[in-house]
Amino acid sequence: MARLQGLGAEIAVREGVALREITRFGLGGPADYLVDIGSAALVPEAIALMRASGLPLITLGGGSNLIVADAGFRGIAMRFTGGQLRCDRDTTIAETGAVWQTVVDFHSDMGLTGMERMTGIPGWLGGAVYGNAGAYGQTMMDFVESVSVFDGAGVRDVLRADCGFAYRTSGFKSHKDWLLLSARIRLAAGDPLEVRQTAAEILATRNEKFPPTMKCAGSIFKNLQVAELPEKALNRVPPGVMRAGKVPAAWFLEQVGSKGMRRGGIEVAAYHANLIYNTGEGTAAEACGLIDELQALVDREFGLGLEAEVQYIGFADRTSH
Ligand SMILES: Cc1cc2nc3c(=O)[nH]c(=O)nc-3n(C[C@H](O)[C@H](O)[C@H](O)COP(=O)(O)OP(=O)(O)OC[C@H]3O[C@@H](n4cnc5c(N)ncnc54)[C@H](O)[C@@H]3O)c2cc1C
Repeated sequence: MARLQGLGAEIAVREGVALREITRFGLGGPADYLVDIGSAALVPEAIALMRASGLPLITLGGGSNLIVADAGFRGIAMRFTGGQLRCDRDTTIAETGAVWQTVVDFHSDMGLTGMERMTGIPGWLGGAVYGNAGAYGQTMMDFVESVSVFDGAGVRDVLRADCGFAYRTSGFKSHKDWLLLSARIRLAAGDPLEVRQTAAEILATRNEKFPPTMKCAGSIFKNLQVAELPEKALNRVPPGVMRAGKVPAAWFLEQVGSKGMRRGGIEVAAYHANLIYNTGEGTAAEACGLIDELQALVDREFGLGLEAEVQYIGFADRTSH
């Protein structure tokens, strides 16, 4: 680790940082090391040194979509914190350590349209690309033209068609050892006033749904594609509940009485059947227990496997989708 720190001031190495302190859910024990890399130029050498240590290596972003195990992570948790935004002709090249809201504001201020409805999604650009984040009808795959990645051997551009984007997923989930460095973004010209107004309205709605201090990961389960629903489940969904080819997971959860359910310090919001939050003293074990219980209830009632949207860190027995 000393050699890593020797690479310069743009690398920060900390030992034993409790990951609950850098995740929105506020769950999870320490990582042996937390390494922040602030410059893309240092990434290849830094990763080579970390790999040479023989310790397991994982990537985190802004920590808004993670459940970290109570025991933490034995190994190195790495973050790429470079956050520069640069205009390149009619596109932007944005580094993945940029806070997502900064990316939205940057484009909204220029009157560009296409991502303003995604205002208020917490986290950084890298996590948003990785999970193909989206809201109110806009998703990353609509405007990300290409992604620059370090794949362990070198840096290369992956064009949108090769990113494997689909609802709340990307092909990068099959390459967990790749580090996303930047994305090329293309938006259309819009009316600056309209763009800002839409963003402001959506932010107000979101702040009511997800109070900014709430310890959570947003919606805990992915919505369901109508085309993939088993008949037993589909027959019971009222037509008005389907939107854009999907049924909200919240509808199924509501039918099994999830609202207000609780395990220790983890609770389902009384007003939102698909929102689990940490009341302050919750543990990752309790969060996982509640997630499993909700999945089992929906499976029993509808023959349906709900998929968690959240990504798990430090668990041997849980798979992230
Ligand atoms: C209140 C609230 C509301 C939310 N609302 C929405 C919403 O409306 N729509 C939505 O889509 N999501 C929503 N989310 C979930 C979350 O904000 C998004 O998934 C976000 O894009 C995650 O970004 P992050 O930087 O926090 O990633 P993290 O949670 O830190 O990481 C998520 C995954 O991305 C990977 N990753 C991160 N950065 C990189 C990188 N540079 N290279 C490689 N892999 C990387 C990590 O390994 C991890 O598996 C919400 C969350 C909260 C707390």
